[in-house]
Amino acid sequence: MANSRIRNTKRLLGLAAVFILCALAGSALLSFRSSAESEALTATFIDVGQGDAILVSTHDGHHMLVDGGPRAAGARLAETLDRMGVTHLDMLVSTHPHEDHIGGLIEVLDCLTVGTVADSAKPHTTATYESYLTKIYEKGIPFSAPRAGDSFSLGNAEVRVLWPTEPLPPDINDCSLVLEVIYGKSRVLLTGDISGYTERTLAGEGSLDRINLLKVAHHGSRSSTTQTFLAATSPDVAVIQVGTGNDYNHPSDQALANLRSRDALVYRTDEHGHVTVKLRSDGRTWSVNIEKPGDDLRAACGSKVFHTKTCPYAKRIAPAREMVIFDREQALNAGYRPCKACNP
Ligand SMILES: [Zn+2]
Ligand SMILES: [Zn+2]
Ligand SMILES: [Zn+2]
Repeated sequence: MANSRIRNTKRLLGLAAVFILCALAGSALLSFRSSAESEALTATFIDVGQGDAILVSTHDGHHMLVDGGPRAAGARLAETLDRMGVTHLDMLVSTHPHEDHIGGLIEVLDCLTVGTVADSAKPHTTATYESYLTKIYEKGIPFSAPRAGDSFSLGNAEVRVLWPTEPLPPDINDCSLVLEVIYGKSRVLLTGDISGYTERTLAGEGSLDRINLLKVAHHGSRSSTTQTFLAATSPDVAVIQVGTGNDYNHPSDQALANLRSRDALVYRTDEHGHVTVKLRSDGRTWSVNIEKPGDDLRAACGSKVFHTKTCPYAKRIAPAREMVIFDREQALNAGYRPCKACNP
């Protein structure tokens, strides 16, 4: 193990101790406003079209980005992270070297500071993967290849690595790092692009817990999200990261039907935009917020200035005069300009 921050589960500090240390550190997550709301673990499934990008944030201001979408979405992803007030990632994870997971990470590595990279280390020879590796090397960021049984802390949450094991499977998707994020009694499972083969292996080993939130494997492809896997995990909320009109017919009817039969609430980034799930530590309380890109901008009828919907000036707009701006570029072309206070 190249990285000393990643250690075996048996040597983990008690969660209580971790929590106290982080409470003392006392940093604040800028994107949160009310203190009641801030006592939560947040997973934001960022809309990057066809691909995965999940930001996991603790309320004491620690961030882990799991995958970065395709290269074409890199600038948008970096801009979204900036808007969320994220300038440093404790951990940057690439689940496996496919372009729809690592392409956007190149831009992220340019714009944000990163503590450690966790990577599947599955050999792959594309130009995109090489550019990403070169960037990590040039910046001198510690690189690790965690395996099942490893774990690390993210602020007051614990991240357990459930997969892969050595030797790595021949299929690249099945080499995906599978991470379970544990926050008190709440659990989030991030599955990369694993297939039913890995899902059944994990279920058969007894490695799976009942979870609150699932990142649906492989964009809802029909080879994943098996009944065996869902019976073992029984997620309350499931999020599918998928692009509108993608070439793969993701998500599949079968995966959707399997999720429905388990009463999971399903969200998809092609329909709902950015999907933010906040989980309290009690294992029972969560909220889901959806945000179609552009839906956060407001302008008053008769004014040529647009705001974020949380800007004090936006809040003063009378409901009858409030306009939602769906497309920032379109607004700029139409002669609108961003507010100097909220800088949308
Ligand atoms: Zn993928
Ligand atoms: Zn893949
Ligand atoms: Zn404003």
